[in-house]
Formats: sequence, structure tokens, C-alpha cells
Amino acid sequence: VTFASLGLSEPLVKVVQEQHYTRPYPIQRDAIPSILQGKDVLGIAKTGSGKTASFVLPILELFHRTKTVTSRYASVLVLVPTRELASQVADVFQNLGVHLFPKVKTVAVYGGVSINPQMKAVYGADIIVATPGRLLDLLGQNALQLSDIEILVLDEADKMLELGFADEMNQLFDQLPKKRQTILFSATLGDSIQDINQTQLHKPVKIEV
Ligand code: AMP
Repeated sequence: VTFASLGLSEPLVKVVQEQHYTRPYPIQRDAIPSILQGKDVLGIAKTGSGKTASFVLPILELFHRTKTVTSRYASVLVLVPTRELASQVADVFQNLGVHLFPKVKTVAVYGGVSINPQMKAVYGADIIVATPGRLLDLLGQNALQLSDIEILVLDEADKMLELGFADEMNQLFDQLPKKRQTILFSATLGDSIQDINQTQLHKPVKIEV
């Protein structure tokens, strides 16, 4: 199995070669084609499995295929539990997207720092990587809206719940379009994750690594 055979085009095949990803990890082999087909995905995977590239690569591929970024507001939202993960995931979008044209703009927003620069940064972003609380604050300030979100990724969803973000997540679910693609990654599959799976995902492809 190669990245090209999973459906990735030249600018992304080139970048994975440059990153010395010689072959897709199992999670990538399973998740990339499903995400490209527009399916919801429930991934049970830990850090180190290659889970980040398993959603970043197909999302960038979808941008590449449509070529234009017409929407005024972001079309992809990635929710993460921590500031560190927000920065890391945004970096992966940037690093793996270097050969794409037009450029895809990714921004990370998280709490614990001043909100003002983030209010400016989200303007014109295609992909927003956010912790739930800060994203709600930005919505409250009318810095962005979620009406154009087509893909929602919940990364380390179990950790978001552990950190007490359930209320914030539910408020965000209420503001997101019902018609969208949803990708959920969690290291564990407890009752609360099953609840989210049942209420927020539609016929997900289940991937366990
Ligand atoms: P993650 O589980 O997303 O935190 O990724 C763990 C690490 O694996 C990161 O440092 C990635 O750069 C690296 N990685 C992801 N996919 C591959 C791959 N197919 N081949 C080699 N390294 C990879």
C-alpha cells in the first residue's frame, strides 16, 4: 500500500516522501480512503499511531481537489483538549500542506493567552484548530461563525471529556451544521464517547489500531 494508492495526489505524495513517511501506518491505510469518500470515522487510536496525519492528509487532499477556497468562513474545525495539541495539529496541517496551491490557511486558537490576536487570526482561516472554551469565547465575540463547517474532527475526545469540556462541546455541537462529516479520535471507547458517537456521527466507519 502506498499513499498514492490511498487516493492522495502529487503535492501530498511529495510531502510525505520529504517527511520520510515511507509507507502509510495502519490507521492511515484505513482512515484516508474513508475520509476521502466523505464517510464519518470513529478511530480508536493513541498518540504515536500516526492518527494526526490520518485526518490531516485526506482533509488537505479534499482542499486540493476542490482547488478553490470560496467560503468566507472556515470549512474545517478540529477540536482538541489542550493548547499544546492545538499548536501541534496546526503545525502538521501547515507542514503537510506546503505544496498545495492555493495555500490553505490553518490557525490554532486556545485559552491562556490574549484573545485579541486570535480574533484577527481566525479571519479568513480555512481550518481552525481549537480548544472548546476559547472557541466559544471567539464565537461570543462574533470573531467567526461555524455555519460553513463541512468537516468536524474531535481529536483525543476522551481527554476533552476528562478535562471537563462536555458542556462546551455540546454547545458547539448545537452551533454546527447538522449536515457535515464528523471524525472522532479517542484512545478509549467509554460510555461518554459512545454517546457522542451515537448523537454526532452518522454510520461511522470504525477503525481500531
Ligand atoms: P501521531 O500519532 O499523529 O502523534 O504521530 C506520531 C509520529 O509519527 C509523528 O512524529 C509523525 O510525524 C510520524 N508519522 C506519521 N505517519 C507516519 C508514517 N506513515 N511513516 C513514518 N512516520 C510517520
